[in-house]
Amino acid sequence: MVQLRYKAMAKINLGLDVLRRRPDGYHEVKMVMQTVGIYDVLTMCRLDSDEIRVTTDKEELPADESNLIYKAAKRMKETFGINGGVSVKLEKNIPIAAGMAGGSTDAAAAIFGMNELFELGLTMEQMQQVGVKIGADVPYCLMGGTALSEGIGEILTKLPDVPDAWLVIAKPDINVSTKFVYENLHANTLQYHPDIDGMVEAIRSQDLYGITDRMGNVLETVTVKAYPIIEEMKTFLKEQGAVNALMSGSGPTVFGIFDKEETAKAAYDAMCGAGFTKQVFFTGFTHETCVKEGTEE
Ligand code: ATP
Repeated sequence: MVQLRYKAMAKINLGLDVLRRRPDGYHEVKMVMQTVGIYDVLTMCRLDSDEIRVTTDKEELPADESNLIYKAAKRMKETFGINGGVSVKLEKNIPIAAGMAGGSTDAAAAIFGMNELFELGLTMEQMQQVGVKIGADVPYCLMGGTALSEGIGEILTKLPDVPDAWLVIAKPDINVSTKFVYENLHANTLQYHPDIDGMVEAIRSQDLYGITDRMGNVLETVTVKAYPIIEEMKTFLKEQGAVNALMSGSGPTVFGIFDKEETAKAAYDAMCGAGFTKQVFFTGFTHETCVKEGTEE
């Protein structure tokens, strides 16, 4: 039996701006997306029956039709008339409901896996067309690396890889609903907009400090106000030597960027010992997504 294993990478937002709320309720965004070295592992194989079977190692995660892996597999089956089912075992490492696109990256890996298991030979564009129906971040997760994301998240421009740096990422022990954050954002009257164009330029010229100087996330206006611990954790990371620190996505995860490995390691230890949360990671940027780990017969 052919078994495929994929590492599904998490993302952070180096910059996140909301340009406006459209009359239809959607928000027009301008974001710099970046994959990082925290990942889930999906092990997939074909089933003779028509079943889509999802199992996970996290009790709090639904393994039913509401799991984004299930939704992705179902849509692939319907769109391409696939006969046969699939079993997907998920090892969850990416913090859940954290602003790190954990569900979207799992959906992206499931799309890659279905393409391969059923030998569909799809292009990236075809897979992204399926992905966007699952969620606005899925097309980016299929692509990975560094990218500018516009529109409602579906207009993607691939950017050069950012210069290497070290990251400390921590998710406070609170749950933040993305819906709550967007509903409470005063998108049309924001006082401050991060300089996303300047950040893109800095990425093109490989200027790490030009990037970190322009880090900003307008969703902090809602999430940090509701949960001050986020600001405390950002301040803590900067006190430990981070060049800059920011909340990712709608939060509550925060990350600090470090230009020296030893400083980052010490900051990681300090964050682990500070009692804010148990979910602390020491990692870096990655330049790929959904890495296939191997095929077992
Ligand atoms: P984003 O950065 O795209 O807003 P997020 O990190 O905030 O994503 P997710 O971890 O993707 O949020 O999870 C959001 C919700 O989706 C969770 O409440 C969870 O129950 C549900 N969900 C469905 N499938 C998955 C999955 N495979 N992994 C994680 N969450 C999933």
